[in-house]
Amino acid sequence: MSVTPSVTHAQWQQRASQLSFETRAYLNGEFVPAASGETFASINPATGNTLANIVCCGAVEAETAVAHARAAFESGDWSRLAPAARKRTLLALADLIAEHQQELALLDTLDMGKPIGSALGDVASAIECLRYTAESLDKLYGQVAPTGDDALGLIVREPLGVVVSIVPWNFPLMMTIWKIAPALATGNSVILKPSEKSSLSALRLAQLVAETAIPKGVFQVLPGFGADVGKALALSMQVDAIAFTGSTQVGKLLTQYAGQSNLKRTFLECGGKNPNIVFEDCADLPSVAHQAAAAIFHNQGEVCIAGSRLLVHNRIREPFVRALCEAAKNMQPGDPLDPQSFMGAIVDQEQYDKIAGYIELGAQQGAHRETIEAQSSDLPDGLFIPPTVFNDVTPDMAIATEEIFGPVLAVMGFDDEEEAIALANDSDYGLAAGLWSQDVNRVIRVARRLQSGQVYINNWAGPDMTMPFGGVKQSGNGRDKSLQTLGEYTETKSIWLAIH
Ligand code: NAD
Repeated sequence: MSVTPSVTHAQWQQRASQLSFETRAYLNGEFVPAASGETFASINPATGNTLANIVCCGAVEAETAVAHARAAFESGDWSRLAPAARKRTLLALADLIAEHQQELALLDTLDMGKPIGSALGDVASAIECLRYTAESLDKLYGQVAPTGDDALGLIVREPLGVVVSIVPWNFPLMMTIWKIAPALATGNSVILKPSEKSSLSALRLAQLVAETAIPKGVFQVLPGFGADVGKALALSMQVDAIAFTGSTQVGKLLTQYAGQSNLKRTFLECGGKNPNIVFEDCADLPSVAHQAAAAIFHNQGEVCIAGSRLLVHNRIREPFVRALCEAAKNMQPGDPLDPQSFMGAIVDQEQYDKIAGYIELGAQQGAHRETIEAQSSDLPDGLFIPPTVFNDVTPDMAIATEEIFGPVLAVMGFDDEEEAIALANDSDYGLAAGLWSQDVNRVIRVARRLQSGQVYINNWAGPDMTMPFGGVKQSGNGRDKSLQTLGEYTETKSIWLAIH
């Protein structure tokens, strides 16, 4: 979702220059430094300037936070509070976020480079998620089992206990709310570990939580590196679940940590290499091409559900790619604080180098790089990469199989439906897939056979909160959004009462 802001470029720049940042960890209701005294720099990728030095938590803070989270959980002040009361508090938090939505969007834009219009859309989506989840939580019932007359079998759902949410940097506030809303709603204590590349909105969120009736220790934020504080949390014997969004590589580590410790639940939302299939009978070729371009270039391609593999029927491939490149001309990167920018800056030098490396590799491996003539060839100084389209890609090329997480599209042709399905499913990932056709029989037939957690027909990325979001195969096993998440953060208990 992208929101057109009424604030001008100059006004955003002025606001950015006046911002102050919370940089400390939020532990048991207090903002505190790390025991080690260490910090790490948050750098604006659009300018290279250091925004703030953030407290770098480690194993000490992890242990302390887990103890507070456990104590808060056992106290029952939140975990056993009536659902209607938890709902009121979470709705109050949603109102506070709404009051500060422009500031929160600005923090994400400065921290990780996304355009301000997209960041505003993310915050709006986060608020919608929190309100949807809060509104649902007092409408869930348990069950009575069909036992004989001599018993009463109650099937109830209870919170898991201490939940650690580990989130990535590409949608910092939105991913955070997707995780913490259902976890808090169902009565758990939550420790949030934001990405070291985007901690600022998480810490501002902690300030807002501190203004609500959420008890101390129920929500805590530990900024720091994954291999330190993240790993310590994941190995803790006192943590009941890890809700993770991030790379497949780290997702695999988390399942290992769970096995090495207390077999905590791990809900994983990992990477994707998502096929977007365009059949020869798609409607309105220029419009579909425009949407296919947006599916990969939105958020600089730093999107788990980016439509990064475009499979086009060979009969229309050339005109389709021409129309897509035409659309991409207007999707150039620009200053993230300029409301007109379609793409912003790449999150950091490491990610920039990774994307640039794949662009080089694509050409070396024989793919054809299409020319996309931008109105101006000047990119701002900073970590900016223009929309990049490779045609004549073959399934064995690295750009066809590996998640690049940048504005790079791999186009492959196919001759019939079977070939399209085989190409689409030829991936370790299974997060999202799209298909474009006017044949209602075909779209259902193909949708059923795609190995993917989500299938978009004649659209890309339906944003509704009512649909579960998550993947299959190595894209993970968790689901965000929808009522399904409330089940994920609770445990079933069977209570058997013998009747004499
Ligand atoms: P990442 O896996 O590098 O990091 C994600 C989080 O894990 C960060 O907070 C990081 O500090 C933490 N972490 C890293 N190593 C850790 C360890 N050893 N123990 C515990 N925590 C650790 O991912 P990223 O670069 O932040 O994000 C990009 C990835 O996220 C992409 O692969 C993308 O597809 C994926 N993603 C998936 C979804 C989804 O819903 N499926 C959504 C957004 C992003």
